[in-house]
Amino acid sequence: MRELTYVSRHTAEWREAPDPTLQSDVDAIVAPVAATPCDVDSAILAGHGFIAPPFAIGHECVARVVDIGEAVTGVRPGDLVVLPWSINCGTCDHCRSGLTAHCTSVPHMAMYGAPIGGTWGGLFSDLVRVPYADAMLVPLPSGLDPVAMASASDNWSLSWRLVAPHLKARPGARVLVVARGSIGLYVCDIARALGASDVLYVDPKPEHRAIAESYGARTAEAIEPIRHGFDLAIEATGRVDQLALALKSLAPEGFCESAGNHFRPGELPLLDMYLTGVTLRVARDNVRHHIPDALDLARSGQVTPERVVSHVLDWDDLPDALPQRLLKPVFVRETR
Ligand SMILES: [Zn+2]
Ligand SMILES: [Zn+2]
Repeated sequence: MRELTYVSRHTAEWREAPDPTLQSDVDAIVAPVAATPCDVDSAILAGHGFIAPPFAIGHECVARVVDIGEAVTGVRPGDLVVLPWSINCGTCDHCRSGLTAHCTSVPHMAMYGAPIGGTWGGLFSDLVRVPYADAMLVPLPSGLDPVAMASASDNWSLSWRLVAPHLKARPGARVLVVARGSIGLYVCDIARALGASDVLYVDPKPEHRAIAESYGARTAEAIEPIRHGFDLAIEATGRVDQLALALKSLAPEGFCESAGNHFRPGELPLLDMYLTGVTLRVARDNVRHHIPDALDLARSGQVTPERVVSHVLDWDDLPDALPQRLLKPVFVRETR
């Protein structure tokens, strides 16, 4: 089979690899049919990651189940499934308490799309082995489009987690979104759908701001900190200066969620944070735990994640198109 391999800055190419096989009776083999880059993949392709290439890239897809081990009961060959970005067993203490990104049955940080915590391959591959298939795989609800939901593996479901629990705790909260890619736009969609009274989306790119405005957000190219402005700030830029801006814009006892991936150093305004009384969360997402809730919202019809999909391209376009840093291209194919 082919796996799309990140080989050097701005360059990815197909490399041949052995077809994966079932290694236990709880494994499955799946074939991605709609796959898309996570926002962090553009930083990796630009050379900002901390793992030296070459490695198989990609960790967001909807896939078709090709084969299952004898003990797998939750999916059948032919089913369409969401495949989460991190590897989790579903039964260890961490998994059972929802901390699926911290599964203790696999090496720390085990994931698709980067050789951290073992080598699990990437999701821009023709075939993928899925361990713990019943714990990992979430059937795609009927009626949901695999292209629109290709990001449910990570960015879409992460965006749900960044904003939905806060709006449940603080109905009508005022939300600041400082972003550069798909995560911030998904957050705008979800925040408006779940009743945020005000959403301000900050991004220098006019084409991104146009999508945010279509979701009912106000937008700005850049802002000065607005003291006491927002109950909740979401930062998804990977830039510490932008995180600092978001923190300085919070209301007293406000909450800041950072989507992380701060590969470059910087300083946080700790005195401001102390004086305002803020909570900052910077977390790898336990995405498997809340994929079902995120899919429920998608199925409700209150949101339109397909608006963030910037291009629908053929699987064979991956090596040329992926390094171009398009907003959210989805690469599609049929199972072979
Ligand atoms: Zn990701
Ligand atoms: Zn586990």
